[in-house]
Amino acid sequence: MNKIEKQAVSAEDLALINGYTRKDLTAEEVYTFSVVLCDNDIDRDFEYFTAETLEELSKMFVGVTGIYDHNPTAKNQVARIYSCQVENLSPKKTAYGQDYIRLVAKAYLPICEANRDIIAMLDSGIQKEVSVGCGIEECVCSVCGEDMRIHECGHVKGESYGGVVCCGVLKNPIDAYEWSFTAVPAQRKAGVIKSFCKGERYGLAENFFKKYHGKGDVTMSAEEVESLKSYIENLREKAEESGRYKAFLELETVKSGITAKLGIESDLLESMVKGLSVEELVRLKEIFEKKTAEILPIRPQTVRGAEEFGSARKEEGNGAFNI
Ligand SMILES: [Zn+2]
Repeated sequence: MNKIEKQAVSAEDLALINGYTRKDLTAEEVYTFSVVLCDNDIDRDFEYFTAETLEELSKMFVGVTGIYDHNPTAKNQVARIYSCQVENLSPKKTAYGQDYIRLVAKAYLPICEANRDIIAMLDSGIQKEVSVGCGIEECVCSVCGEDMRIHECGHVKGESYGGVVCCGVLKNPIDAYEWSFTAVPAQRKAGVIKSFCKGERYGLAENFFKKYHGKGDVTMSAEEVESLKSYIENLREKAEESGRYKAFLELETVKSGITAKLGIESDLLESMVKGLSVEELVRLKEIFEKKTAEILPIRPQTVRGAEEFGSARKEEGNGAFNI
């Protein structure tokens, strides 16, 4: 199946194209082609776009530039989409029995020396497919309707439940951020790269956890390894963030304890707060602040809190409260 097709330039096309160019181009100066970006059939991740999702994406893809190798540098941006439409290919059906629809874009690139190779490739039909990247908010389980990126519904994509194959139904697109010519013509089927904004983009890793029940050896695909790596990296970042927050909270609690003038020495306060959870620290800090309010007129004592967050410089921080 040829996904990319050369097409003639109409006056209407030219008007749309010239909406993007610094100087008006003539029909002889532009090369245009149409390209199938994605469809509503089940993809290799066992996910599919709904008709509404494709409709919304059709608006988002207009104006987006195409690149090589998913490398978004100016040098690699070779063609721009100037129009994009949803096509219904009825009576053709998807694997799950709906009308087959697809997203078809028209793109142009100026005919010039820099684009000579890519135009030759498009002309010869060597360059056949593209992959696209978009941001999606929801991936809903086709069996139970739960958002699979957020909750563990227990269903595994690709497995059958009472005759229904579990798929992720992609809803609420946020952004269409790229489309790329696949570098190697023989590459595995061009696909859609989806970033998930709400449930993060670690669905593959999570799906892997669901499949793996701790028995026997297991084989992971390169994609699953990549997904698992980003998943772990994300957890590490989150752990670091919460570590910094806890250190900040400990410091603030010690300060509140000193200000409350309960007669507890600062080194004792410091060892006291060490073993507390974030929730306990918040509660203790509130108790200290209540005590302080009883003995001192109200003043904005936490005003400097935000600047000190992250630096956690104890000596300097406590200085203001030394008696
Ligand atoms: Zn489910």
